[in-house]
Amino acid sequence: MTTAETIAVESAVLAQTYAPLPVVLTEGQGVWVRDVEGREYLDALAGYSALNFGHAHPALVAAAEQQLRRLTLTSRAFHNDRLAGFAQRLSRLCGKDRVLPMNTGAEAVETAIKVARKWAYTRRGVPDGRARIIVAENNFHGRTTTIVGFSSDPAARAGFGPYDGGFDAVPFGDAAALEAAVQPTTTAVLLEPIQGEAGVVLPPPGYLAAVREICDRHGLLLLADEVQSGLGRTGRTFACENDAVVPDVYILGKALGGGVLPVSAVVADTVVLDVLGVGEHGSTFGGNPLACAVGEAVIGLLEPGDLQEHVRALEPVMEEGLARLHELGVLRHRVRGLWAGIDLDPRVASGRRLCEELQHHGVLTKDTHGATLRLAPPLVITDEELMLLLERLESALLALQR
Ligand SMILES: *Cc1c(COP(=O)(O)O)cnc(C)c1O
Repeated sequence: MTTAETIAVESAVLAQTYAPLPVVLTEGQGVWVRDVEGREYLDALAGYSALNFGHAHPALVAAAEQQLRRLTLTSRAFHNDRLAGFAQRLSRLCGKDRVLPMNTGAEAVETAIKVARKWAYTRRGVPDGRARIIVAENNFHGRTTTIVGFSSDPAARAGFGPYDGGFDAVPFGDAAALEAAVQPTTTAVLLEPIQGEAGVVLPPPGYLAAVREICDRHGLLLLADEVQSGLGRTGRTFACENDAVVPDVYILGKALGGGVLPVSAVVADTVVLDVLGVGEHGSTFGGNPLACAVGEAVIGLLEPGDLQEHVRALEPVMEEGLARLHELGVLRHRVRGLWAGIDLDPRVASGRRLCEELQHHGVLTKDTHGATLRLAPPLVITDEELMLLLERLESALLALQR
C-alpha cells in the first residue's frame, strides 16, 4: 500500500485517537527509519524513549530471536528460566532488593500506587480507603482511569470520570508547595524527575533533593516515574542520579523493552514491596520469558556505563546546537542528556507545523502542547548524526521564516 492508501484505510478502520504525521514507516536500523516510498528519516523521537538503543539493536534482536524459538510465555503460575536472571540484574542496576515485573508504563505506575496505598494501611496506620498521594501538575503517568483522574491535561482527563480520588496535585518544582500539601493520610509522592510529556521540563536545582528530604521527614514513599527519563536518556541510568537522589520506588518501562516489546517494572526494597502478598497483584504477561530475555539484554547495554557516558559527551553538542536557533524562532530550550524540549515562538510556527517541515527535511519527531517540540533521538546516535539532526532542524526553521 502507498502512503495515501494506508492513511485512507487507517482513517476508515482505526479509532481516531492519534493524528500521526503522514509517513508510513516500514524499516528501521539504528537512528534511521525508512518509509514505504523509500525515503529515509532520522528518528528523533525514538518511540518516546522506548528506542533508546535504536532500531534493531543487534544484541536485542538476537536476544529476542533466540528466546522466540524457545519459550515465550508461561504465566507466573509456573517459573520460567529467564525471570530470575532478569530480576537479579535489574535489582542490581537499581540498587534495590526486589522487582515486580509488568508490561506497560501505566501498569507499573498503577502498581506503585497500589504498593503506596497498601503501605499506608499496613505500615503507617492510615485508616482504610483514606490514603493520599501527592502528584505534580502537568504530569504524565499514562492513560488508565485512575491515572488520568489526576492529570491536569483536559484532553487526557475530561469525560473519563468518575475519578478515583486520593491524589493532591501541586506545582512541579515547588518543594514548599509540596510540603504544604502533606496531610496525616499522605503516604507517597509520585513524580517524574523530569516531566517528559509536559515538554522536557526540568525542575529547579535542588528540587528533587528537597522532595527526598520532605519524604524522609514525613515518612512518605518517593515514587520516581522514570518510565521516560530513565535507562540512559539523561546521561545517567536514572534521571534521579543527576540530583544524587535515590527514590524508594523506581517505576520503569519504555526502554526496558528495548523497543522490541512492552516491558515495565516496579523496583524497590523488600520493606516496600513486601506489602503485597500472594494473589494481591499480578499480570498474565508480566515477567514472561521473551520480555525477560530482551529486558536482560537491555540491562546488559546499560551495565558498562559507556552509553550513559556517550550521552553526557553529546549533551553540550545538543545544547550548543539549540542555543544557535534562538534567532530562528526558538524562545526557550531545555536539555538534559539527549533529551530536549524546544518552545517555539507561536508566531513562527506551531509544534505540529515544525514537525511537518522537519519531515520534509528527513527528521521525524513530535510536538507536545501546541508550541513545544521534543527531541529524544536514540542514545546510540553518533556525533555526526546529531550534527546532521541539528542542521536539519535549522534548515526546517529557516524554511518556516519564508
Ligand atoms: C509513557 C509514560 C508512561 C506510560 O507508559 P505506557 O507504556 O504508555 O503505559 C508513564 N509515565 C511516563 C513518565 C511516561 O513517559
